[in-house]
Amino acid sequence: MSEHRSNLDEDSLSVALEILSRLVSFPTVSSSGNLALIEWIGSYLSRYSVPYRIQAAADQEDKENPKANLIASIGPQTAGGVILSAHTDVVPVSSQDWDSDPFTMVEREGRLYGRGTCDMKGFIASVLSQVPRMVEASEAGRLRYPLYLVFTYDEEVGCLGAPHAIRLLRSDFAPARCVIVGEPSSMRPISGHKSIDIYETKVTGFSGHSSDPRLGVSAVLAASRLVSHLGDMQDELRTTEKDERFSPPWASVHVGVIEGGTAVNIIAPSCHFVWDVRALPEGDTQELPRSFKIWHDKVILPPMRALHDGCSIETKSRASVIYLRPEIDSAAERLVRKITGDNQHRYVAYVTEAGQFQQAGIASIVCGPGSIEQAHKANEFLEKEQLSLSCAFIEKIITECC
Ligand SMILES: [Zn+2]
Repeated sequence: MSEHRSNLDEDSLSVALEILSRLVSFPTVSSSGNLALIEWIGSYLSRYSVPYRIQAAADQEDKENPKANLIASIGPQTAGGVILSAHTDVVPVSSQDWDSDPFTMVEREGRLYGRGTCDMKGFIASVLSQVPRMVEASEAGRLRYPLYLVFTYDEEVGCLGAPHAIRLLRSDFAPARCVIVGEPSSMRPISGHKSIDIYETKVTGFSGHSSDPRLGVSAVLAASRLVSHLGDMQDELRTTEKDERFSPPWASVHVGVIEGGTAVNIIAPSCHFVWDVRALPEGDTQELPRSFKIWHDKVILPPMRALHDGCSIETKSRASVIYLRPEIDSAAERLVRKITGDNQHRYVAYVTEAGQFQQAGIASIVCGPGSIEQAHKANEFLEKEQLSLSCAFIEKIITECC
């Protein structure tokens, strides 16, 4: 029996390896689209007569680089199914120093190198490698609950694809009991993460010769006061908020980019900066941007406008991803803890699509192969062992749906 067992696992692993190598060969950087990969997954599913839906991106601005979600369902159309979810896009490789072609998977010393092996095509490969078993269980009438496969676009640029897929799941499929988002967690359950909201603030001043600063309004000077105020707000959060499950244990604010001005002797007509807020679960993600606006409209803007009424401070949201609120006894937690035998509670700093599923009322957890340490870096890799663990994990999920 044990011999038979290990043979099965070997087979699964070699199928998963073959699939992963194929998935890596699609350079699904968000700017290039993911449709070719989605169609390849579709044709793979067709080989096993699995019905699937391809959902074109909500606002398909870039017709040259089309994007889509894929949603498939295997098993009876009843409530209580399990969603296995992953994003198909990867981060760019430009200005990274790779030892081999990032879009050709290579194996060296038990590690699978290639862009996306870890984040998160390894999870997709392990799910797809188990499709024959899912179909077999379904055809034999053993599956009591459906398995849903959800593969999304544009996670890396603000989790844009998942909400679109979630709407389709809710409208056209029986309600699921939970979702497992297979982001790299070294196959350990992750119960919560912060939110992220990215903003761009544009300051418009009034230009003039710098020899007499009274004649203009420097956007660079105003922006520097705004940035400095965000720093003060951060300091205040550090003393007022505490949730030791997270690191850092408070909501954080960070200004990552600032650009403005034209020359040293010209009063800067414009300046913009990009910043983010990472709020703790349960927190009001809009509270800080709201009080920031109230403050600058009261303190910074009036003297600017007094000199020139064309001056302005405008903030736009660039991306917003909700936090994953820990729900220690949810269906997702129970399922993953039963399978992994791991009862430790972990909270991470990175964001995932799990919070979006949770917001839609679907119990969510993060658990997938590979370490987040390797994600987004040059020479990204996935330990072969992790791929194998992920295949075994999916196999157990099938059993749990029987
Ligand atoms: Zn990811």
